[in-house]
Amino acid sequence: MKPALIVIDMLNDFVYGALASPGSREIVPNIKRLIAKARSLRIPVVYVCDAHYKDVDWELKLWGPHALAGTRGAEVIDELKPEQGDFLVRKRRYSGFFQTDLGILLRELGADTLILTGIDTSICVSHTAADAFYRGYALIVPRDAVATFDPKDNEQAISYLKKVYGAEITTTDELILKLERKLR
Ligand code: ZN
Repeated sequence: MKPALIVIDMLNDFVYGALASPGSREIVPNIKRLIAKARSLRIPVVYVCDAHYKDVDWELKLWGPHALAGTRGAEVIDELKPEQGDFLVRKRRYSGFFQTDLGILLRELGADTLILTGIDTSICVSHTAADAFYRGYALIVPRDAVATFDPKDNEQAISYLKKVYGAEITTTDELILKLERKLR
């Protein structure tokens, strides 16, 4: 297994700003632990981040302005700040793969398994999972490191990822143990 840790849309606007939700705040400590473990095991950490063009991106009509490129709202929250050696891919659609360099980056990193974390489980995480599945990546989803705007949607989104994309559903604690065992 050659994993990469994918951190989706943990940006100021999704955690504290325009599209904030309690669920996104709850998963911060778990994602923080996963990032620290990944860095210590030399697993690539790839932030996949909305960076929308104001008045251009169609998605903004549905959701209102959020994560506008170049604003504080589009920056990763301070608690999970990228460090040197991490990667950051900007996107303008739900999927981290659509018209971005995520595909070529993961190929160059030699990844075959994606650990998906962040928000929203039923939107950007699901669409990124679909594109990853089409490209042949194995998926791991720690259920306590993903969230939906409406918490009641989270379980449904997680079962969808399991059923449709064969994602291995786990927890942050279990995953940290598994990574330590497999990669040591
Ligand atoms: Zn967006």
